[in-house]
Amino acid sequence: MSKINLLSPLLADLIAAGEVVERPGSAVKELLENSIDAGAKSVTVEISGGGTALIRVTDDGCGMSPEDAGVAFLRHATSKLADERGLEAIGTLGFRGEALAAISAVSRIELKTREPGADYGTRVTLSAGEIQEMGKCGCPVGTAIAVRDLFFNTPARRKFLRSDRAEGTFCAAAALKSALGRPEVSVRLIHDGKEEFFTPGDALPRSAVYSLLGRDFAARLLEGSFAGDGLEVGGFVSSPRAGRGNRGLQFFFVNGRPIRSPALQTALEQAYKNTLLTGRFPACVLYITLSNAAVDVNVHPAKAEVKFSDERAVTGAVYGAARAALEREAGPVAAPVSAPTVGRGAPGAPAPKQEFFQRMDADQFWQKIIKDPGDRERSSLPLHEPAPVYAPSPIVQIPREKPVSAPEPNPARKPEPVIESPPRLVGEALGTYIIVEVQDSLVLIDKHAAHERVLFDRLRAEKGPHMSQALLGPLTFSPGGAETELLLQNLETLEALGFALEPYGEGAVVLRAVPADTDPSDAVPLLEELLEKLRVGRGADFKEELLYSVACKAAIKAGKSSEMEELMELAKRVLSGEIKYCPHGRPVSVTITKKELDKQFKRIV
Ligand code: ADP
Ligand code: MG
Repeated sequence: MSKINLLSPLLADLIAAGEVVERPGSAVKELLENSIDAGAKSVTVEISGGGTALIRVTDDGCGMSPEDAGVAFLRHATSKLADERGLEAIGTLGFRGEALAAISAVSRIELKTREPGADYGTRVTLSAGEIQEMGKCGCPVGTAIAVRDLFFNTPARRKFLRSDRAEGTFCAAAALKSALGRPEVSVRLIHDGKEEFFTPGDALPRSAVYSLLGRDFAARLLEGSFAGDGLEVGGFVSSPRAGRGNRGLQFFFVNGRPIRSPALQTALEQAYKNTLLTGRFPACVLYITLSNAAVDVNVHPAKAEVKFSDERAVTGAVYGAARAALEREAGPVAAPVSAPTVGRGAPGAPAPKQEFFQRMDADQFWQKIIKDPGDRERSSLPLHEPAPVYAPSPIVQIPREKPVSAPEPNPARKPEPVIESPPRLVGEALGTYIIVEVQDSLVLIDKHAAHERVLFDRLRAEKGPHMSQALLGPLTFSPGGAETELLLQNLETLEALGFALEPYGEGAVVLRAVPADTDPSDAVPLLEELLEKLRVGRGADFKEELLYSVACKAAIKAGKSSEMEELMELAKRVLSGEIKYCPHGRPVSVTITKKELDKQFKRIV
């Protein structure tokens, strides 16, 4: 061992950067948090090339003075903490003054910022942490930071990144989480030039949930709250019927900060005892509010975990809020009410507020969409109603978090109407929907969803290993050391799905066969998706989870036109009632009656 050196500031920053900015998604989180801390009312996040090409965060917050803009990128430069006393009660998302230093050390940055009342703004450019240019500029009040070529000077880190698509998804998930924590801030995410989500910033949690997680998810949530001693928990939990295959949709926020907490997960799941199947997990969006002094946020490098001074009170309140929500769900769904004593949170009746979503069980909900197009309710007419006030944009895709439980068919449901004259295939629209005329209705079928279901059912019925197809030329897939290891550990499982792969030197595998029906160009994205699931681990539905992925990738894609016979075949299966939901629980068809169309055209009133 040789003599001890003090690391140069740049090297120290590079090392620190590894902790703070592990991947592009971490930079998105830090920048968005800075905008929120700056009091922004609206923030736009743009990412392209998986976040390594560009992350730009633009806000209308308090901006920076020219002096501050010059020092903001120094390590431990922060306006949020003055001395150690401040650490005892942190009210901002940032406080260590590390993020900008860490991000700038591994990228090229352009900052434009202006304070309210200032005559002009300041523009600073940096490369690998060094200021290149600094001067006056014209710009709106607020701050815009563009981060380009992330990790350009740290090839080791770059090598560990996954595909642009996968990193882009992580970025979107990070933005989603921050946005969900702060319904009072309007957040827009533009991903590769397309708007992926937009929250209205109206301070209503339901609006944020609705626009970020989608109307389907929102419609199935139950609202609950619980007030303890100096502590409040409120928000939404899923119905026991809508159990999911993993914990990916459990969101906890402490004073607006997204956190991970096994203790809170356990408290939540405790509330579902005996109502959820084993291996199923609830979803939740729960906001915990307590005094900043009662929580230590300085215990984790990425600030993703916190320490409560009274953890039992918090777990008790989370349990209480979840129970309050479940007990309000009508009928046989809710568990018997016998609240065990958990923690020291004040007992007594929880104080449910006004309900955020109309309560419907999953079955009623889908029935409404499929059977009841005449209903004028917003959620039942996705095709024809004007965009709802707070969900004008598409829903962000979250990795690993697909809903996995198709609602149980309701035995009490009325039988399908008898079809008298044969259905007529009208054609395909928008590359996505099959249109069939059935009696006096139009049935629109989501061809991807329907095909996915057909394939999924077929795979599930197959005994033994699934069919495989050899590739004409082998493909290499280089997910990196740890990931390759994981693939190889699961070789048997992958082979059973129809893959043939073998190690190919450092951090790579060579792929010789893929599951039958999988297009070779989808092989690598499919493996990436499976890797994600392998990483999450073997829950009760592990095998089904993998089959979902295989079916989804093999199914005909929306946006590409298909052969008429193919469409006809799918339409037949849907109309016969054989398939109703895609494996993720979305309906495969929507019916619009002639009466409904006539009403829309004002032929009848
Ligand atoms: P921290 O957030 O922990 O203070 P950062 O490195 O993230 O550390 O930011 C350093 C400082 O730069 C912040 O304390 C703040 O003063 C300033 N700053 C960063 N982003 C913004 C922004 N979007 N608007 C205004 N000021 C900002
Ligand atoms: Mg910060």
